[in-house]
Amino acid sequence: SNKSRVTVIGSGNWGSVAAKLIASNTLKLPSFHEEVKMWVFEETLPSGEKLSAVVNETNENVKYLPGIKLGKNVVADPDLEHAVRDSDMLVFVTPHQFMEGICKTIVGKIRKDAQAISLVKGMEVKKDGPCMVSAIISEKLGINCCVLMGANIANEIAEEKFSEATVGYRENKKTAEKWVQLFNTPFFSVSPVQDVEGVELCGTLKNVVAIAAGFVDGLEMGNNTKAAIMRIGLIEMKAFSKLLFGSVKDNTFFESCGVADLITTCLGGRNRKCAEAFVKNDGKKSFDELEAEMLQGQKLQGVLTAKEVYEVLSDRGWLELFPLFATVHEICVGRLPPTAIVKNIVHTSPAP
Ligand code: NAD
Ligand code: 13P
Repeated sequence: SNKSRVTVIGSGNWGSVAAKLIASNTLKLPSFHEEVKMWVFEETLPSGEKLSAVVNETNENVKYLPGIKLGKNVVADPDLEHAVRDSDMLVFVTPHQFMEGICKTIVGKIRKDAQAISLVKGMEVKKDGPCMVSAIISEKLGINCCVLMGANIANEIAEEKFSEATVGYRENKKTAEKWVQLFNTPFFSVSPVQDVEGVELCGTLKNVVAIAAGFVDGLEMGNNTKAAIMRIGLIEMKAFSKLLFGSVKDNTFFESCGVADLITTCLGGRNRKCAEAFVKNDGKKSFDELEAEMLQGQKLQGVLTAKEVYEVLSDRGWLELFPLFATVHEICVGRLPPTAIVKNIVHTSPAP
């Protein structure tokens, strides 16, 4: 038949919710096969059982999304090559640091007519500059790649509380509409925007701002300070995105992927939470330790992204243009105290 087959590559906190959303739609939409494959990076649970087996027995991701049924048509598969082999719609949703390895594993093993979408917030920095995850996917696998980003704290969407999201696409509006169809539900309202880089950079860079928001929470500076962090962070997000890609559109920053994701992540995200704890512990616990202690296997993206952004800024001589981004990294690595986050972004008027 010519029904589309979907595989979700990743099964963390957001990956599991994405599979649940998609599976509710493939049951209803005749253009998709009902079954949704979900690749599980295999691990052994404290009980001695394999995570993928438990997901299939209980219909729950007991480690990364406990208490939520995924839908009977979600099938966990620990074999990555096997999971992607027959699918023409590939949904990538893993922490960004694993994406290059995943692409390497499946290159040449996917359908030639496959389409991809990335829900991954992050980038890689190579010798010749930054490379967004969607670009890694299209270049390594030779397929078109859209992105989906937005104000989407996974646990809230798992409980079917209303939120919006943005699909970024390059040329093919028809493909974007198919992705919108696959994700859209009454409580998950998806809009397409022709600006892959803008959408993806919003999702990536707001994680750095969320670390700054967590620092000022740790310092107990209150709401006005946090709002200042968000405002200046948004300005740096826009300036950085436009310096990297002239095609980035101003309006993208007003979509769910822009200002809305920035706000929700600075209020309720994991990056914020761990950055607050970093300050409360006087920097005595590293982010790696805090991630392991506080997130039960889930991964922070902001600390690594701050380092990657810093590399781009120093390579290009832009450090002075982005005091918030640069200072977040300096604090994460212990070169500056958390109080520097406010000190370094205070507007300095030109000398009289
Ligand atoms: P997560 O933070 O729950 O990370 C855990 C996942 O990483 C698990 O599936 C684990 O098996 C996997 N993993 C660990 N080591 C691995 C390895 N070596 N190779 C491959 N996989 C490995 O993941 P998530 O919340 O699904 O986030 C995925 C992406 O989605 C990130 O870029 C994140 O920023 C983004 N995102 C997350 C949320 C959220 O609320 N959780 C919301 C929107 C976007
Ligand atoms: P955190 O990774 O900081 O929890 O942010 C989640 C997110 O991207 C919400 O859209």
